Amino acid sequence: MRASFAAVPVLLFLAGCAASPRIDTSYTSANQDSRVQFLVLHFTSSDFASSLKILTEGPVSSHYLVRDDPPTIYRLVDEGRRAYHAGVSSWKGNTQLNAASIGIEIVNEGLQGGAWQPYPKPQMDAVLALVQSIVARHEIRPDRIVGHSDIAPQRKVDPGPMFPWKRLADEGLIAWPDAQAVAQRRAGFEQSLPDIAWFQRRLAQHGFAVPLGGELDAETRNVLVAFQMKYRPARFDGTPDAETAALLDVLVSP
Ligand SMILES: [Zn+2]
Repeated sequence: MRASFAAVPVLLFLAGCAASPRIDTSYTSANQDSRVQFLVLHFTSSDFASSLKILTEGPVSSHYLVRDDPPTIYRLVDEGRRAYHAGVSSWKGNTQLNAASIGIEIVNEGLQGGAWQPYPKPQMDAVLALVQSIVARHEIRPDRIVGHSDIAPQRKVDPGPMFPWKRLADEGLIAWPDAQAVAQRRAGFEQSLPDIAWFQRRLAQHGFAVPLGGELDAETRNVLVAFQMKYRPARFDGTPDAETAALLDVLVSP
């Protein structure tokens, strides 16, 4: 009988259902940071009601959903927990981005009847305030605030060419290529356009997963489209041109 009495607390502990052990929290390590390293922006490509249903009932989810009308921020997953918004993804050599990111889904129908839907200003004001608070809370670096199309350019185009990345740059949240430097380097690239391997190397340095074989293949074009949608949304046909070269060069080597 004595033996079985002694075994009871041990079994409970192993099962994880006993009272928590006493933990001394007198000491704190200086070597730590947030588990949240990336912020990923998306559009839902559907209206609020169906977006909410998909994001709450699965199979995908996001930490936040920002409605357009009225502009409202919903938190669907606690920031300390993982949401399933990124899928197969890569940025600056980091993969499995769901585990280390916060995802914001923005209600926007994307491409409808051949026209990309705009982001109303009140909705973007809400998105910006949310991004600022998340970035401050987790000290997320500017080069780790990305779109879904940055981390999965072969599968995704969101948040699309209407997303006002420049507003994030104006708030100091992300880097933006200096217009004067771009104009200067563009003149040189118009004289002599770099080869595809040059574009691929710089796209990779910027953060994209991109082939490096020197061929203008479909994968490389998709990455160019993602880059152009963000920094030169007036034309995002995936064609390597002098302006794209200048934007990329200034971003990678300011
Ligand atoms: Zn997405």
